[in-house]
Amino acid sequence: MATVSDRVRNATTKQDIREVTTHFEGDKGILEVQTLNAWYGKTLAIKDISMSIRSRTITAIIGPSGCGKSTFIRCLNRMHEVSHGGRVSGSVLLDGKDIYARDVDPVTIRQRIGMVFQKPSPFPTMSIFDNVAAGLRLTRLWSRRGDLQEVVERSLRQAALWDEVKDKLNQSGASLSGGQQQRLCIARALAVAPEIILLDEPCSALDPAATLKIEDLMRNLAQEYTIVIVTHNMQQAARVSEWTAFFLLGEMIEYGKTVDIFSRPKDKRTEDYITGRFG
Ligand code: ADP
Repeated sequence: MATVSDRVRNATTKQDIREVTTHFEGDKGILEVQTLNAWYGKTLAIKDISMSIRSRTITAIIGPSGCGKSTFIRCLNRMHEVSHGGRVSGSVLLDGKDIYARDVDPVTIRQRIGMVFQKPSPFPTMSIFDNVAAGLRLTRLWSRRGDLQEVVERSLRQAALWDEVKDKLNQSGASLSGGQQQRLCIARALAVAPEIILLDEPCSALDPAATLKIEDLMRNLAQEYTIVIVTHNMQQAARVSEWTAFFLLGEMIEYGKTVDIFSRPKDKRTEDYITGRFG
């Protein structure tokens, strides 16, 4: 197998070299957000957000209800434009390429940047197996039935659900507990081999035990994937994330290492929020 230096030697342009080294060093899944604005019709919901989201880390987006957290992460995989009146300006570079460029297919972006929602949402009429396989079947990322079974098992293992469901893969996804359903949705997102996983309040409908399981899972997944989580739960942000961005009224007020945001915030508004003076 070619080594990194072989591949670099054979590369002909600077861009090729960058692609080779990026690929081999596993430094994929970097998001660079540049002056991002998002509207619903005439209403500006997020304003001039610029930030770099690092590869293989967990970045938390915190802030009071209605401050634009969900809108922001939905802009990161081109889901916002599906909302009524949804419009965006600015750019989001995924590994250096703007996901909003004219020649980019939003469906491919949503495969590379997966999303898990607040309410566990397995397809209710589908079996556990088919829930995980659904995205794969749509994207035709599999060729043989054998491949499909392998990917479903791997995804369920990665989502720490395999042992609990391996004997009942034909049962409905809706037969699982809330926490299991959420891990099933994570398995479904993982099956199409994303680089980034966006989680929008993934634990808000779960009990504390199921929440801790999802948090453990996130920590494991961050060894391989870039994770962005929206949470209104500050303890959760402090427990799982390495980086935190605080949003207020559609603006990003402060962004930094989670330990700094929670122990020595620079902005008075961040301090007021994390100390519970509002929110
Ligand atoms: P958060 O996730 O922080 O609670 P949101 O991103 O959901 O905030 O909302 C940001 C702003 O955008 C709010 O003022 C909200 O009312 C508005 N908004 C959210 N979704 C829609 C929508 N589908 N249509 C119109 N306005 C919306």
